[in-house]
Amino acid sequence: MTHLVCRDTGDHYPEDAPIWRSDSGGLLDLKFEPRFDLKATAERPPTLWRYREAIPLGDRAEVVSLGEGFTPLVEVSLDGRTILAKQEQLSPTGSFKDRGASVLISKLVQLGIKRVVMDSSGNAGAAVAAYCARAGIACEIYVPESTSPAKVAQIESYGADIVKVPGSREDTARAAMKAADHAYYASHCWNPYFFHGTKTIAFEIVEQLGWRAPDVMVTPVGHGTLLIGAYIGFCELRDAGLIDRLPRLIGVQSACCAPLHAAWRAGLPEAEAVAPKRTLAEGISISNPLRSRQCLEAVRETGGQIVAVDDEEIRDALQDAGRSGLFIEPASAAALAGVKKAESLDGTIVVPLTGHGLKAVRA
Ligand SMILES: *Cc1c(COP(=O)(O)O)cnc(C)c1O
Repeated sequence: MTHLVCRDTGDHYPEDAPIWRSDSGGLLDLKFEPRFDLKATAERPPTLWRYREAIPLGDRAEVVSLGEGFTPLVEVSLDGRTILAKQEQLSPTGSFKDRGASVLISKLVQLGIKRVVMDSSGNAGAAVAAYCARAGIACEIYVPESTSPAKVAQIESYGADIVKVPGSREDTARAAMKAADHAYYASHCWNPYFFHGTKTIAFEIVEQLGWRAPDVMVTPVGHGTLLIGAYIGFCELRDAGLIDRLPRLIGVQSACCAPLHAAWRAGLPEAEAVAPKRTLAEGISISNPLRSRQCLEAVRETGGQIVAVDDEEIRDALQDAGRSGLFIEPASAAALAGVKKAESLDGTIVVPLTGHGLKAVRA
């Protein structure tokens, strides 16, 4: 049966417990048996809800949807190599975070939650605010004061209350957790339902390749909601016998804020907090990634690696993307830069373009 489990103690909680961490303060995972019905899937509209039997909400659940998922996979030539770009920047709010938000907010509707708080450096906040607006849930988003004006304007347009917090990204997280005393904490990195939304990117890639796994997936990584989600999704497909091996997962960090990269190089099981420097790639500037152990395990188990790219490499990749007709965020360009930097990549390489370029326009 579906249930929540504490990563530290192994304690179980019912799937409908309105909690976001365990009694001991630990991270929660969701234990769940997905089912895949390829025939039903093929007959459904092109959104992530076409995999309903593999999304842990039950068959009769009402879903909060803006038509997210099933983003196009297009060939892009990069330094003489052809990669497949998954165009997540075309999601309803302009980033892949819509996958997690659609599933998480659908779950919160089921739980009868009326009010949420969360913290974000921008895109997760925009996604949660949009799906809360759709669901009629009141929403308060804590953002670092340095968040780009376009992202703040987007969050406000969905009717969410914005709280700008001076200081670091961690100061923002602390302020939001404090506010969670009076509202449900809909955090994208704490909440396991978010990952059961982001995992659908793996289902789509495999379906779009004709039910075949790619060889490599290269993603930008901050907290790891996309990388860990993809790992969960690919494992579920493998366990269901739909693919025979996992793609190598390559995580790309900004060299200005690279705790996972440092841990990877040192062979550590989890990351230590770093002091971040300013980077173009604000979407992945996470100095203390909450689920670092899980990220590193996923990368290690798939034979992947973690690489770091500097702002000059990100700027070059951003320019190359634009010249290929793709207007994306610097954080997304980091993954393209990572393709050039990673060692011995071959076969089918998929790169999610995580966020839209309009989000990071500087006036
Ligand atoms: C959130 C985000 C990322 C990184 O996701 P993590 O969950 O922090 O690893 C990358 N690119 C964009 C555009 C994002 O919004």
